[in-house]
Amino acid sequence: MSKIIPPEHILHILSRLEARGFDAWCVGGCVRDALLCRRPSDWDIATSALPEETRGCFPELKVLDTGIAYGTVTILFPEGPVEVTTFRVDGEYTGHRRPLKVSFSRNIREDLARRDFTVNAMAYHPKRGLLDPFGGRGDLRAQILRCVGEPSRRFDEDALRILRAARFSAALGFGIEDGTLRAALESLGLIKSLSGERVREELTKLLCAPGAGAALEKYAGIVLAALPELPALPGPEDAPPSLVPRWAALLRDICPETARGLLIRLRFSNREITEIIRLIRQLPLTPKGMSLAQRLDRAGLTVRDLAVSGGDLIRLGYAPGPGLGAALDSLLTGVISGGLQNRREVLLRYALENM
Ligand code: ATP
Ligand code: MG
Repeated sequence: MSKIIPPEHILHILSRLEARGFDAWCVGGCVRDALLCRRPSDWDIATSALPEETRGCFPELKVLDTGIAYGTVTILFPEGPVEVTTFRVDGEYTGHRRPLKVSFSRNIREDLARRDFTVNAMAYHPKRGLLDPFGGRGDLRAQILRCVGEPSRRFDEDALRILRAARFSAALGFGIEDGTLRAALESLGLIKSLSGERVREELTKLLCAPGAGAALEKYAGIVLAALPELPALPGPEDAPPSLVPRWAALLRDICPETARGLLIRLRFSNREITEIIRLIRQLPLTPKGMSLAQRLDRAGLTVRDLAVSGGDLIRLGYAPGPGLGAALDSLLTGVISGGLQNRREVLLRYALENM
């Protein structure tokens, strides 16, 4: 397993918070990805400081209230935005979706316990090392996704975790641990209580992940529970690496009006709906041949698929270096998750606003 080396500005945030008497750790996806020798898409920080206390630690920087109800502020560094979230214990879950209220905690272990999978529930501190109370590192080695705690209770709390299991399977090429998979399949009925936006974000990440094809084949039941309009997943064909063609490839075999209803339910923008439907109408029904896994695995969306380049951002005023890479990564994340359209003017405006 690889050594974890957070970038300088992340170390700076940790030491600044600690100098003011707070506890602070790198958490979640960045710890997982760094251990896997993958470049983390972003470095999230969890801290015992309350959002206002975090803000007070960085008077010289712009700090945005990005998710104040959930304890998240975003610090704008020249190297890129960094999310800092107060340790949390999730409140009562209602309706199998994320809690309406959360309570803050001063304890990192409580914060790790509310996270979804063991591989996502590790924290790293440059002096104290890895904090791994649920065996995440062992599961990374074994390449499995296992719920933190009792799987059926965790899926009952938030049914999005069922889709996230399939999404991380596609992103990491991991299998879902037997007990976790059994509970996920038994809880499929809860998926219908999720909001369209959350389903869209997770499924778009799944579809654009490098292992999308294999995960779709293996966990078709999960995807079909989120998209009951589809009688079955379509068969094979080449899918280009971006959101519109991938969704069109998934929906190509159902009638365009049903597809339109589904896309509206998932709150795609009007423009995306028009583009996806236009493409569905152009695609012949699924031909036989190459497997779905083969065609989707070929191309993961990368920064090279973005409608803007590093050079464009430099012309906007970005300095060459790690900050530029982070800015391109955050555009890519926005495009993959469906939050940003992959259009030049949209991406340039976003980059300018977030410089
Ligand atoms: P990516 O690199 O794809 O963003 P990530 O692990 O950072 O992967 P996010 O969806 O950004 O995934 O979530 C950040 C972290 O928050 C996760 O690693 C996990 O610890 C926690 N998390 C997110 N959503 C949930 C959820 N629905 N239930 C429990 N924990 C969650
Ligand atoms: Mg993330």
